[in-house]
Amino acid sequence: MRAAILSVGTELTVGRVQDTNSRFLAAELTGAGVDVVEARTVGDDLGQIAQAMGALAAVADWVLVTGGLGPTADDLTREALARWTARPLVVDGRALAHLEAFYRDRDRPMPPINRKQATRPRGARLIANPHGTAPGVMLRLPGGPVVVLMPGPPREMQPMFRERVLPAVRRASGRVIHSRSLRLVGIGESDIETRIADLMGSDPSVAPYAGLAEVELRVATSDPDARRARSRVDARVAAIRERVGQWIYGEEDDTLEAVIHRLLLLRRETVSVAESLSAGRLATRLTRVAGSSETFAAGIVAYATRTKETLLGVDPDLLRREGSVHPEVAVAMARAAKARTGTSWALATTGVAGPTPGDARRPVGTVYLGLVGPGGEVVREAHLFGDRDAIADRSAQAALVLLWQCLTGRDPDVPTLPSASPTGRP
Ligand code: ATP
Ligand code: MG
Repeated sequence: MRAAILSVGTELTVGRVQDTNSRFLAAELTGAGVDVVEARTVGDDLGQIAQAMGALAAVADWVLVTGGLGPTADDLTREALARWTARPLVVDGRALAHLEAFYRDRDRPMPPINRKQATRPRGARLIANPHGTAPGVMLRLPGGPVVVLMPGPPREMQPMFRERVLPAVRRASGRVIHSRSLRLVGIGESDIETRIADLMGSDPSVAPYAGLAEVELRVATSDPDARRARSRVDARVAAIRERVGQWIYGEEDDTLEAVIHRLLLLRRETVSVAESLSAGRLATRLTRVAGSSETFAAGIVAYATRTKETLLGVDPDLLRREGSVHPEVAVAMARAAKARTGTSWALATTGVAGPTPGDARRPVGTVYLGLVGPGGEVVREAHLFGDRDAIADRSAQAALVLLWQCLTGRDPDVPTLPSASPTGRP
């Protein structure tokens, strides 16, 4: 089953409004196992809209159009469908009654221009819009594709698509879609693709999505038989796990913080954090999980160099000699957090967020993560990219990755400090 998306609106082509409708529809359709073969954007121009509909209908079974269903003169999508299919626009009696009732309920006269919202090309069905005045339009062309027109405002379009359009698409496909998502950290997208290149076939499809320093691998297939679909996906997932299992932290909607919380609960252990660069983001991540007070004890934001000394007792000579972006400082911060809070683990971040350049030894993005655990200490150096905010976000992510790797005994591949335990790992 193939689909194409058409976004209509001059506000989109001139860059005033971001086209989030396409992104939403593409993700929803892909998730339902439908191939999205093309997405286009055109302005409020009758000829261009009609031409785009024709072009997309030639390559897809479903053409999903958003925008331009309003009452004003620049809303031309309905007219374009009528023109392209050479069908007259007829008034839908039920829709007109509904529209009139909408205005009567609000004690307002219906503006005459709204009348066109109750029209549809002959042979089309209207789709009720509980969130606005413009109904959607669905036209099944004989021997050809189905064209669906939906309103532009996302809060009207999204429920209409999910409740009325997607079920029709699913029914038409006559197949069930089965998918599983794997979540990986500590490995880049291209490295993953190299390792599983031969497993990234088209059925099941294996699609990587890059997130904030993590990658989601979505494995999906469709089949008339649900059991067959599931077993095909399960077999592919097992093969992928064999290759890159050591980087997989979870599946579906798992988050790294939730997985860490579960691991700590199982081990009856706790964690605290001392943050410089990440400035509270680490504490925020760890407390997103319901029940996190059982595993997360405290977070200390020691941002200025001086507070690393006064609040955390980091050696003033070390700070004077090396500055606060140094592996020894990261570990000293973690050590202090652990000692102050009595947790089993403590994590610390320090680094250069920019945009003011660091020095030659520590350019922007240089980050040190310290981790002190029940069995020892480790420190990791990372070089992160992005603007100030992105580097701070990524440093929190990198710290969580380090903790997860140590909790699970995945090879953290980190240089250890001289003071580390004999095993070199907490
Ligand atoms: P209305 O009855 O509100 O005029 P409409 O169906 O005619 O609805 P448009 O006039 O094309 O839709 O767009 C109305 C508003 O909806 C736009 O100003 C914009 O805020 C939002 N919108 C339209 N298309 C998109 C899109 N592709 N992505 C995100 N928002 C959109
Ligand atoms: Mg409009």
